[in-house]
Amino acid sequence: MKISEIYRKNKKSLSFEVYPPKTDRGFENINKTLAVLCELNPDFISVTFGAGGSSNCNRTIELAKKIKQEYHVEPVVHLTCLHYDKAEIDEFAKLLADEGIQNILALRGDRNSDIAEKGDFRHASDLISYLKPKSVFCLLGACYPECHPESENRVSEIRHLKEKVTAGAEVLLSQLFYDNEQFFRFVEDCRIAGINVPIIPAIMPVIDASKIKRMIAKCGAAFPVRFQKIVDRYENNEEALLDAGMSYALSQMIDLFASDMDGVHLYTMNNPIIARRICEGIRHII
Ligand code: FAD
Repeated sequence: MKISEIYRKNKKSLSFEVYPPKTDRGFENINKTLAVLCELNPDFISVTFGAGGSSNCNRTIELAKKIKQEYHVEPVVHLTCLHYDKAEIDEFAKLLADEGIQNILALRGDRNSDIAEKGDFRHASDLISYLKPKSVFCLLGACYPECHPESENRVSEIRHLKEKVTAGAEVLLSQLFYDNEQFFRFVEDCRIAGINVPIIPAIMPVIDASKIKRMIAKCGAAFPVRFQKIVDRYENNEEALLDAGMSYALSQMIDLFASDMDGVHLYTMNNPIIARRICEGIRHII
């Protein structure tokens, strides 16, 4: 099923993100995680894509295939383009189509000086324009409520996002954020600019203080005082941080659903406990 169908029915979505484990052992163990995640009945599960290298692509496809065929949940495959040429993208798209995978989150990918850029695709919108005629796919794009770190300014960021939608992105998945007001303002700016596709906010519960600090520094998300206090107070107490982090993520999600957003995407970090606790906390809300 194409993900865009969910929103055509005016439904609010709950979805998860997982990543392909790097080792064979990890891959064997992923079934335990998927069993819990899929039992929670998500509308879709997105599978991340490592930067460059064919082994990465293979694991992403393998995991997406598993989600679809063994767990009967719709996968969304992330696909970056900066380090691939058209022939490689064609090959990848064929593999996906052959497996009946219909949803691609089309991304530019981060620049990596160790891997050559192939030059066929400079922006995610180039990949979207290229894949759009292959109408078997529903194409999703990424968006950044607090701007992409390379962004010139908010105006050009929204202009480029609109180009992405015009090129064929039917749904936008957001970068993580910890201040809902930033997301609400972003959605409003998008609507004013004529971006009318569903914009799905993404939530990453904090369970590891140093990891979250690194992520926030990398993506430039605001660190609200209430959130900062939680991290400072509980960073050395794993269990307390889990309690506080889950509670903060839940309060963000409830606010997003209460504000009639299109859905929520949860970064599970392949941790089924997180997904289960979140779903218990919103079972009468969605
Ligand atoms: P673009 O949409 O190309 O945007 C990147 C920057 O370029 C923006 O500032 C934009 O405004 C600007 N820009 C766009 N078009 C133009 C133009 N025509 N002229 C000038 N500037 C332009 N990375 C991975 O490697 N694997 C993953 O699985 C992965 N999953 C992700 C999932 C989500 C939901 C998000 C938000 C990000 C994910 N990323 C992933 C990270 C992503 O690859 C990086 O953020 C990357 O740097 C930008 O990708 P993009 O698709 O947003 O790029």
